[in-house]
Amino acid sequence: MNKKHFVSIAIAAALTIGSFPAMGTTANATSVEDLKKKQGEVSSQKDKINSEINKKKSEINENIDKQQDIKAKIAEFDAKIRDTENKIAEKAKEIDETNAEIDQLKKEIKELETKIKERNELLKERARAIQEKGGSANYLDVLLGAESFGDFINRVSAVNTIVSADKKIMDEQKRDQEELEKKQKEVETKLAELEDDKAGLETLKQDLNSEKAQKAELFKQLEKQQASLEKEKVNLEKESSELAKMEQQIGGEIQAEQARLAELARQREIEKKRQAEAAAKKAAAQKATTSSSSGGSSASASASASVPVSSGAWTRPASGAITTEYGWDNLNGESRFHYGTDIAARGSVPIVAAADGYVIKSHYSSSYGNVVYITHSINGKTFTTVYAHMSSALVSSGQPIDKGQQIGYMGDTGYSFGQHLHFELHEGSWNGSKSNSVNPRKYINL
Ligand SMILES: [Zn+2]
Repeated sequence: MNKKHFVSIAIAAALTIGSFPAMGTTANATSVEDLKKKQGEVSSQKDKINSEINKKKSEINENIDKQQDIKAKIAEFDAKIRDTENKIAEKAKEIDETNAEIDQLKKEIKELETKIKERNELLKERARAIQEKGGSANYLDVLLGAESFGDFINRVSAVNTIVSADKKIMDEQKRDQEELEKKQKEVETKLAELEDDKAGLETLKQDLNSEKAQKAELFKQLEKQQASLEKEKVNLEKESSELAKMEQQIGGEIQAEQARLAELARQREIEKKRQAEAAAKKAAAQKATTSSSSGGSSASASASASVPVSSGAWTRPASGAITTEYGWDNLNGESRFHYGTDIAARGSVPIVAAADGYVIKSHYSSSYGNVVYITHSINGKTFTTVYAHMSSALVSSGQPIDKGQQIGYMGDTGYSFGQHLHFELHEGSWNGSKSNSVNPRKYINL
């Protein structure tokens, strides 16, 4: 920051260089307009930084909006993931139930298989027993082995019953087994479908998780970005407050310079009074001894001023007509308070100091044009006069000035419509709100 450096050097210089003996510590040699200029530079630098701060603020807000969007999306993903997890759990439960069903079916099938096998063995054994005894003849043996006819009948029916009953049961069991196998196949198909569904859901969950992770990463980046924006903002704010401090410090310097010049004016007034008293005493003594002709030279009024200088502390600052009085008035159809008195005249019109004093400021401003500020001390009281819109100024700041001494020419510079002098009188020092302004007619016979 070049400007900052420049300003702090200026302040350091102001604090060390030149001081009026009567003023003590804070008086400085830097002119008020230089300080004003520096203050303006610091102020515009501060404005620039403040607008950067506002930019950072809106960037931070944008960032926060984005973060909220992403947070909402992450929440959506979380909800979807939870939903998917629930569905997966449901599928897993169904799969467990189906597996249990399959196990149960397998067990039932196995039991039936065992029973069928046993029955089959039994039937085979019987068939073998019959064969070993020689085909149907063996049945005959069984039958012929009957001890009585009743026994014979019994034996015939027993053989038939046993064989056909066994066969019937075995057939039924075979049918049952087939049915169970068919059911097992169906359940296994259902299981495969469930596994498929579950796998699909697992994939969906994975996708959701990776999308969520991406959003979370983006969120992290935004948080980081926000942190650095906040840091930048804090640094800018620090810089801005430093500049504001500097601006204030320069304001203090300006006040100190104004006070220094006011004090100079006060001391000058005291000295002038003392000299006048001494001169009067001397003249009285001379009159007493010689009582001859007087050496009539008037005090110190500049010969260059063509304005008649009035006696007393004050004099009219320019000749011409009063065109606008102090107070409320109308400018271009708008009501405004006029803080001075306008005096207008044509041609080359000299402007003179309204009283003894010191020039505080002599510079150009866009509103006042070429303007001179003078501080006065009248009976120990400080006044400030302002002479605006001059075509040119002949004095510079810090310069002592006498009542009636020419300080410039009437002009039309700055915010002015036609050649005139805008003259202000302030009781005390001048300030931006012009709160010390009074009607010049209170002191000067215009
Ligand atoms: Zn005016």
